[in-house]
Amino acid sequence: AKDSGKNDYQFYESTMSTGGLERLKLEGDLRYALKRNEFVLHYQPRVNINTGLIVGAEALIRWDLPDRGLLWPLDFIPLAEESGFIIPIGEWVLRTACLQCRKWQDAGVPHPRVSVNLSTHQFKKDNLTSTVDRILKETGLSPGLLELEITESAMMENLEKAVATLQGLAELGVNVAIDDFGTGYSSLGYLKRFPIGALKIDQSFVRHIPSNIDDTAIAMSIISLGKTLNLKVVAEGVETQEQLTVLRNYQCDEAQGYLFSQPVDADRMTEFLVNPSG
Ligand code: C2E
Ligand code: CA
Ligand code: CA
Ligand code: CA
Repeated sequence: AKDSGKNDYQFYESTMSTGGLERLKLEGDLRYALKRNEFVLHYQPRVNINTGLIVGAEALIRWDLPDRGLLWPLDFIPLAEESGFIIPIGEWVLRTACLQCRKWQDAGVPHPRVSVNLSTHQFKKDNLTSTVDRILKETGLSPGLLELEITESAMMENLEKAVATLQGLAELGVNVAIDDFGTGYSSLGYLKRFPIGALKIDQSFVRHIPSNIDDTAIAMSIISLGKTLNLKVVAEGVETQEQLTVLRNYQCDEAQGYLFSQPVDADRMTEFLVNPSG
């Protein structure tokens, strides 16, 4: 990667500064974090580029660790992946996000749609489809209101299996978006066979629009690829009006980023949805 973004930097910095002992302590704390109810979900609005209206929210996990304040995903998700805790944590995320979206649905807010990130580990688990099905039934959320974000690299690890898993999810009526698209060397032939609904342009490309010609060209290619395959294209990490204008000119469908809002707590997100233009 020619660019280490803010998040990469955070991760790098924290693993550099936390020695083995601290890491061990964090892993111990992680074991009890669910039981102690220390995780929270924040939500970042997704905006329709043409109308400017909010059309959904991405759920992003934070760990509210006593005495340490909020920890960001890159400070503990890799550890959770290695230790296997990501499976129960991921279920908690899915259930909590679905419950929240069900509340929006019940309250009649205009666009009650939620996107949930799945880790590679979760995506590879054999019972993913039945887990998602069970949580949808438990929470009573309409499957069409849920979108799962799966990274391009997770899908590319085992293409045949990915196709089967995605088919299972599609049969449930759940939407799938490929996250961090453009970073994982997709096999374009497979992309055609994936029953998915959206591509999310990785923010490493969006960040340098329009100053870096290569990154801008890549973003534009992803948009036209999405159009060709009849997929919605979402740009993440949109921070400036200039980026938005370029993306709009190339007919990118949706955007997320600090230009609109940072991730916010559920109450604030609810206010955004109730009043989508202000
Ligand atoms: P991601 O799915 O690519 O999420 C986008 C990240 O970019 C989020 O960081 C978000 O806060 C940040 N972001 C949004 N807009 C902007 C912007 O305009 N500029 C910049 N510089 N950054 C922006 P966050 O919340 O720290 O999450 C980082 C990563 O952690 C996520 O990347 C995702 O891969 C992972 N993650 C977050 N929540 C979950 C979760 O519940 N489960 C799993 N498995 N992974 C999660
Ligand atoms: Ca995501
Ligand atoms: Ca992403
Ligand atoms: Ca990312």
